[in-house]
Amino acid sequence: MNKYIFSFLFLITTVVYMGCNNQEDSSAQMQEDETNFQYQVDQFADVAILRYQIPGFDQLTAKQKELVYYLYEAALAGRDIFYDQNYKYNLKVRKTLEAIVSSYNGDKNSDDYKNFMDYAKRVWFSNGIHHHYASDKFQPEFSKEFFTGAVKKANQADLPLTEGQTVDQFLAEITPIIFDPNVAPKKIVLDPGVDVIKASAVNFYEGVTQKEVEAYYNKIRKADDPSPISYGLNSKMVKENGQLVEKVWKVDGMYSPAIEKIVGWLEKAITVAENDAQKAALQKLVEFYKTGDLKTWDDYNVLWVQDTSSVVDVVNGFIEVYQDPLGYRGAFESVVSIKDFEATKRIDAISRQAQWFEDNSPIDDKFKKENVVGISAKVITVVVESGDAAPTTPIGINLPNANWIRIKHGSKSVSLGNIVHSYSMASSKEQVKEFAWSDEEVELMEKYGTVTDHLHTDMHEVIGHASGKINEGVGAPKLSLKNYGSPIEEARADLVALYYMPDKKLVEIGIMPDEEAFKAEYIRYIRNGLQYQLNRVELGNNIEQAHMRNRQAIAKWVYEKGQPENVIEKKVRDGKTYFVVNDFQKLRNLFGQLLKEVQRITSEGDFEAAKNFIENYGVKVDLEIHKEVKERFSKLNIAPYKGFIQPVLKPVMEDGKIVDVTVEYPKDFVEQMLYYGKNYSFLPVN
Ligand SMILES: [Zn+2]
Repeated sequence: MNKYIFSFLFLITTVVYMGCNNQEDSSAQMQEDETNFQYQVDQFADVAILRYQIPGFDQLTAKQKELVYYLYEAALAGRDIFYDQNYKYNLKVRKTLEAIVSSYNGDKNSDDYKNFMDYAKRVWFSNGIHHHYASDKFQPEFSKEFFTGAVKKANQADLPLTEGQTVDQFLAEITPIIFDPNVAPKKIVLDPGVDVIKASAVNFYEGVTQKEVEAYYNKIRKADDPSPISYGLNSKMVKENGQLVEKVWKVDGMYSPAIEKIVGWLEKAITVAENDAQKAALQKLVEFYKTGDLKTWDDYNVLWVQDTSSVVDVVNGFIEVYQDPLGYRGAFESVVSIKDFEATKRIDAISRQAQWFEDNSPIDDKFKKENVVGISAKVITVVVESGDAAPTTPIGINLPNANWIRIKHGSKSVSLGNIVHSYSMASSKEQVKEFAWSDEEVELMEKYGTVTDHLHTDMHEVIGHASGKINEGVGAPKLSLKNYGSPIEEARADLVALYYMPDKKLVEIGIMPDEEAFKAEYIRYIRNGLQYQLNRVELGNNIEQAHMRNRQAIAKWVYEKGQPENVIEKKVRDGKTYFVVNDFQKLRNLFGQLLKEVQRITSEGDFEAAKNFIENYGVKVDLEIHKEVKERFSKLNIAPYKGFIQPVLKPVMEDGKIVDVTVEYPKDFVEQMLYYGKNYSFLPVN
């Protein structure tokens, strides 16, 4: 649960910089490279479809590529499972939609057809008939008559008819599933006072009540177990002959046809594993899928955490439990990745200079560390995602979920570098233009915005959190500064990054393009703190989220303190407000001053000062500005949700052996969904 919330906040944090309507013209013939890669390719309902590249793939050895390919196939092999987990009839609906899309030859300009396609895309995007986030059932805007006609004209062999079922019988069954708003209205219901099992459409329980499930697990759970298994993680719970029974997802159990495929590909992967640690982990994962034993699952996770040297990594299994209203059952997901070589270089370059950054920091000497070690933030490059991780994806992953494993054996925490990059590249030019005072600003942001945004994040992680020391006897900020500890700590890390952005050192060590580039980040940071991020706050509300608090606090503080010298100027044009940075050097000095103070607050555990800073600058929202920001955003048509088309890997065979693997980046979401439906559909439809 923690990971999801973290990831989601992290995600929407990034989303605020992103947007749509920036589809570049690109002819089909033109070879795409980094400079003309088209990031956004589709938009419908409340959703935009993006693409991502796999930089570094070509640097893999042939054997590593082969390994990646097998894991890629294992990921896609489990895709159907997540549909079925979300709702019992999702596969039936999806196959029906796919049968229609594949064979439809009526008027494609009719409203019915367009609305039908929108519906189909939404179902693919959400892995089912309920909104992936809001959880409400989609209401089709095409007519039942259109649907009936299209089903009748579809290729009968493609329809998911049960044995002996006529098309009319089939229609009678499926029509209410799609059209009746009272049938399975919500995927997940968490309201107190209702039976959340009965009220939720997810396919994790059948014929059982919430009380029965809770009683079942309370009975088998041992209170003093230091290493409890993840009860219920890999099964559906049903009632048989009056008894609660777990239908386990394993080979020869529920979902066996898909799991057998996963196992088949994992077994191939084992033959080309990079090293013994990785091999042992993959073998354990296969054992888990074959036995369904949750102790084996824990053993696997321990081995997975211990494998830190491999270039190729994989998450494959029943992982996050937030689709289950009671939080037991894991949704299938897979993320296949390779180490991000570029980011690793960048991070190493920063990390190597950690002591220089500490020594030259504007903070008091007595708070400086004599021996500072840069935190080695891990960045991965995603190769493919499926199940719960696609088309919508987290941008940070922190696993395993079992708390005792995290404490005893550690965890892996990574940021999905190429996904973040894609979000950033697809960010709305309209948004930048809307809030920019001049064309020069727009140019600056377009030229450097992505690079400096990444760099800010790296500096924040690698030297920001690592720098400074806390006085003896003063605890961690969480303890000494209580609820202000988190925004203060984030402010401190941000300020270290901001302070060093204009430093020649960054150009010298080759991570900043030139001495002009940092301006893009200064402009973006101020604008985000004072304007962009307010779009995510309900009108009339205060800012609650820690990261948002620290960003506004910093931006507001430097704005106010710089006023005598007009460092940041508030200008109004055509009734719209702009914050314009007039003096970048003075702004840097202000960041330095604030860093000094925030470090003092942290080192001394000065609760009152922390409280004053955050409460005075980070919490309350200027209502007029807030209203204006909301209005300006609402006119920009920025899709709140985003998902991805996956790259396609193809093996190059010689004498029956894989000698190379090629990567393609498809552009058509519908085509990919149909391709998946055709080639990776292994579960029978009941
Ligand atoms: Zn941080």
